[in-house]
Amino acid sequence: MSDYKDIWVFAEQRDGMIMNVALEILGEARKLADKKGVNVGAVLLGYNIGSLAKELISYGADLVYVVDNPLLLNYTTEGYAKVIADLANEYKPEVILYGATYIGRDLAPRIASKLMTGLTADCTGLDIDENGLLLQTRPAFGGNLMATIKCPDRRPQMSTVRPGVMKKSVKDESRKGQVINYETDIKETDIRTKILNIVKEAKSKVNLEEADIIVSGGRGVGNAEGFKLIKELADVLGGVVGASRATVDAGWISSDHQVGQTGKTVRPKLYIACGISGAIQHLAGMSNSGTIVAINKNPDAPIFKVADYGIVGDLFKVIPALIEELKKVSA
Ligand SMILES: Cc1cc2nc3c(=O)[nH]c(=O)nc-3n(C[C@H](O)[C@H](O)[C@H](O)COP(=O)(O)OP(=O)(O)OC[C@H]3O[C@@H](n4cnc5c(N)ncnc54)[C@H](O)[C@@H]3O)c2cc1C
Repeated sequence: MSDYKDIWVFAEQRDGMIMNVALEILGEARKLADKKGVNVGAVLLGYNIGSLAKELISYGADLVYVVDNPLLLNYTTEGYAKVIADLANEYKPEVILYGATYIGRDLAPRIASKLMTGLTADCTGLDIDENGLLLQTRPAFGGNLMATIKCPDRRPQMSTVRPGVMKKSVKDESRKGQVINYETDIKETDIRTKILNIVKEAKSKVNLEEADIIVSGGRGVGNAEGFKLIKELADVLGGVVGASRATVDAGWISSDHQVGQTGKTVRPKLYIACGISGAIQHLAGMSNSGTIVAINKNPDAPIFKVADYGIVGDLFKVIPALIEELKKVSA
């Protein structure tokens, strides 16, 4: 067990771009590694992707394991799992972290079973305990229970980490690191999956994760029409429209606006919750916002427990009044 050291991050890239979640986990891995006094390794797989190693170093990696091979051009479960398991067997990391993207969620369990080790899915918190073990915290039972899980007897300790929860380090171009080019012996016959075609959906214009201001509507807005008022307030503030799942399920707004446990996790400077009760599954996605304002006609709504400012009232009266005042200020 003592042969195993370092904290690795799977540096998921698509089309030669590192995914944001990989940089977020790199930021967290940096903190954990500093606590343990070990190195952060980034694992970069693909074809013609070597130039990304520098970016990973500037975001906190000490070592970048680059595996550049035409067979790794597109993600395949078998190809990527084989290479990462081989790397782990050779270099023995103590921890490997993956983004809980559809690729990370597919890849990590396959590697865990190859390496016969433990995996915690969809973590929202990571820490190191007094014995140096990784504490992996994740919501369970629909977010009603937070479970903290350890893997004491197997290495590497592995987690997938929910996108949007951890914070990226500040990019530092002057950081130094080492690039390790790893030659894989992977063969075409190792990969049974044949990719015939990759279809890209038009990218959603809703960028909740990066927004500084989010105005969210819940069932209190009444119907699809009610979201016009939410949009108007968001526009006046230069923000983006969010929504509770109840409104998405009702078909009032598209699912790319959904905030919460099964939607996006957001961390804006300002979050305005309008007609949202504050169910635990909604709070799971927004309670780390800088300032939370709640508008709700029920003074006992749980959203007021997390709100920094609360307005008890009918949103159809409160929001137009807010818009009017905001327009005066910006005029
Ligand atoms: C496994 C699981 C995952 C889930 N994931 C998510 C998720 O990702 N995101 C999410 O949001 N939910 C999620 N939910 C659903 C969640 O439990 C709640 O049902 C949902 O968040 C409720 O949405 P809401 O607050 O809009 O509606 P309600 O709970 O119905 O609240 C509406 C609120 O509007 C107020 N109101 C009504 N009219 C007005 C008015 N005119 N002016 C002001 N206030 C008014 C009411 O007082 C009330 O507080 C999940 C549930 C489960 C079981």
